[in-house]
Parts: sequence; structure tokens; C-alpha cells
Amino acid sequence: MSHINRVVIAGAGIGGLCSALAFAQQGKQVVVCEQAWQLGEVGAGLQISPNAFKVLRELGLESALQPFAFVPQNAAIRDYKTGEYYLKSPLAAQAEARYKAPYWHLHRADLHQVLAQACSKAGVDIWLGAVVSGYREEASSESIRVFLEDGRTYLADLLVGADGIRSHVREQMLGAEQPTFMGQVAWRGVIPVADLPITIQPDACVWAGPDRHLVSYYLRGGEYVNFVAVEERQDWRSESWREEGDVTELQAAFSGWHPEVTELLGAAKQTFLWALNGRDALPTWHQGRVVLLGDACHPMLPFMAQGAAMAIEDAQVLARCVATYDLQTALVKYEQVRKPRTTQIQNLSKANAGLYHMHGGVFGKAKLQALKAASRFAPKVIQSKLDSVYGYESPV
Ligand SMILES: Cc1cc2nc3c(=O)[nH]c(=O)nc-3n(C[C@H](O)[C@H](O)[C@H](O)COP(=O)(O)OP(=O)(O)OC[C@H]3O[C@@H](n4cnc5c(N)ncnc54)[C@H](O)[C@@H]3O)c2cc1C
Repeated sequence: MSHINRVVIAGAGIGGLCSALAFAQQGKQVVVCEQAWQLGEVGAGLQISPNAFKVLRELGLESALQPFAFVPQNAAIRDYKTGEYYLKSPLAAQAEARYKAPYWHLHRADLHQVLAQACSKAGVDIWLGAVVSGYREEASSESIRVFLEDGRTYLADLLVGADGIRSHVREQMLGAEQPTFMGQVAWRGVIPVADLPITIQPDACVWAGPDRHLVSYYLRGGEYVNFVAVEERQDWRSESWREEGDVTELQAAFSGWHPEVTELLGAAKQTFLWALNGRDALPTWHQGRVVLLGDACHPMLPFMAQGAAMAIEDAQVLARCVATYDLQTALVKYEQVRKPRTTQIQNLSKANAGLYHMHGGVFGKAKLQALKAASRFAPKVIQSKLDSVYGYESPV
């Protein structure tokens, strides 16, 4: 068992706060440094699949999150024009029966707020406006000094870099390298149900079309509908990776689609645009007393809705490893357990891009028809793929 008492975490995103809570519940002294002056999350939804839910349950958050949840009835993939179902698989019933945990939709701000409150209750110290600018292992190698941009420093036993895809901690550990634009942009938005002229099915629905797709689902007990609309693009000219998008441009990109899509987007008043970025696999996730977690070490395309789920799983495994082994063994074990898992999900996400965007013209559509046939005649094949994602149990 490692003698880790003081943990400093760079980044108060979902990954950073889960990690902070997991360590605090082991009785460690935890400081989270967040660059923003206000705690919060982007105004968008999040699919919390059973694998991530189980971690949140272990962290004791189930009852605090319950009032904010929406339980989708089915996972659906539909044709962008005709509305034909290529897949309609019962999600609510299956998740409980098969994985003993629900599949929830949450507003990111709700999850973030519940996490932040639980962290404060558990004694986590969250510093705001605290930009981590670097670190230095002390000569004895028995602690690590973390430097903030404003001149403050903090001495800890372990630094967790949960500072997202543009991680500063990763940059110091492995050198400067820009993330790669993956040739896709995503518009996101949240629409009050009261503003909708039509009824949206209570499903987690992917609308698949040529070179683009749209995901829609309810949030906050059915008060809002969240959408993520993804379009393939050759270039991304903006310096920012997230900016306010143009609603008319979004509506034009999906014009001629099924009325459920066009009516939904027709009600959008505001949208934000993301460049979807990735990174090549990192040679290592840890060095000395520093370790990476979440998007800082394995950003992924959102087409399995598993990016935050992976950060949540990371947090549980890291805390368990640190509680069980000496520090160096713990960090090696953490990477050994997490890298194959997150690589598998990254690959599934990439493959879904081709499926949802009907790559290959008629062949693309044929793949969706094959999925439809498989879901009817060989549901076990599809189920076993989902089991590997949603039924995951950490080996530590
Ligand atoms: C369109 C889209 C839809 C998605 N949908 C889903 C979904 O349904 N389900 C799901 O599981 N995942 C989803 N994801 C993925 C998910 O959003 C990310 O994987 C997840 O938020 C990563 O969490 P994180 O804590 O690792 O990083 P982040 O959320 O990026 O948090 C990093 C934090 O670090 C802070 N920070 C950065 N640099 C510093 C510094 N130097 N010092 C101090 N603080 C710093 C940042 O301000 C931020 O608060 C989606 C992603 C996209 C783009």
C-alpha cells in the first residue's frame, strides 16, 4: 500500500471531481485546482451508461442524482429521411435486468453540481482561478511541488492531471503537441420541451445520414431535449475548440431530414459548436508522482457516449490501485488496466462514425440494414458487444 496522503488534482471537470471524491473517501487530503473562476459545466446533456453509473453509485451519489435523471426507453438508430428504425433495443428494461444499474440521461451541470457538493462534504478543497502551470519532483522524490500561474505552490504526494484534452500536465510530462482535428464538428444544444411543436420519442436516438448524424434525448425528467449534431468537415479555422454556433447554419445542414429532426432543430435558439479532436496513444500515462486521467490521456470521439464514462471509471480504478499497491506499482497497474479498456472504446467510437454517416454510399446503408437484420435474428451478437461496454467490471 502506498503512503499517499496529499493528492492534488489539476482540473475540476467530471473526471477530476470523481477522482477527488474517491480519494477523499479514503481519508486523503485532496486539493483540486481549477483554472476557471466559477465551477460549472457546459450546458449540454450526458448519457450515463450502467458502467459509469455503478461508479457514481459506489461514490454514494445515486440518490442526489435521481431527481435530475431521465430514463430512456430504447436505444434507437433511425434513417435520417424516412425515420425507419435500423435498431430499436429496449434500454431501460435491459440495463436494469442485465447490468443491475440504470441507463440515465443527465444534464452535465446537474452531475457536476452534485459532484462538487459531495466533494465539499468529503473535505475536498477546491481552488478556483488556480491554473496549474507546472510541477517539479522534490530532490528526495518523496513529494511533488505543483506550481500555479499566480505564483502559489502546493506540496503533494501525487499529482493527477485531469485537465482535459489540452492538458498542461500531459504537456510537461510528454512534450508539446497539439491535438488532431478529427474532421468532424458537433453542434450541441438543449431545448425546453415547452418550445417543441412535436413530441420526441423518449429514446436515446441516433439519426443516421450521409456524412452527418444527430443524437437526441431527454434531460431533467423530460423537461428538456438535448441534441448533438455532428457534421464531417475538412477544416476547422477557429482558434477555439468550442464557440457559439450559428443556428441557421445548423438548421440548413439538416434540412430535408425527418420532421422529428427538423422540428427539433427549428426550435433551437442557441447552439455551441465543437471541433472534435483526438490524440495518438500516449507512450505512458504516468511519470514519477504524476498521473493522467480522462480526456488528458484518452480523448475520444463521442460516438459511443463514453468519454466522461471512461474518466469516471479511471477515477475509481486509480483510487483503488493507490489504496492497494505502493505508488509506482499502483500507477503501472492503473495504466495496464485502463489503457486496453479506453482503446477498445476509442475504436468502437471511430467505427460508429462510419456507420452513423453511411460511409461507402449504398454499402453504408447496407451496413445499417445488416444491423437491422442482426438485431432481429441475432440479437445476442449485438448484446455481447454492448455487454463489453456496459457490463464492465474493473479487475481491481
Ligand atoms: C459533443 C460531445 C458529446 C459528448 N457526450 C458524452 C456522453 O453522452 N457521455 C459521456 O460519457 N461522454 C460524452 N462526451 C465526452 C465527455 O464530455 C468528455 O470525455 C469528458 O468531459 C472528459 O472529462 P475530463 O474531466 O477528463 O475533462 P474536461 O471535462 O475537459 O475537464 C478538464 C477540466 O480541467 C480544467 N483545466 C484545464 N487546464 C487546466 C489547468 N492548467 N489548470 C487547472 N485546470 C485546468 C478545465 O477548465 C476543466 O474544468 C461528449 C463529448 C462531446 C464533445
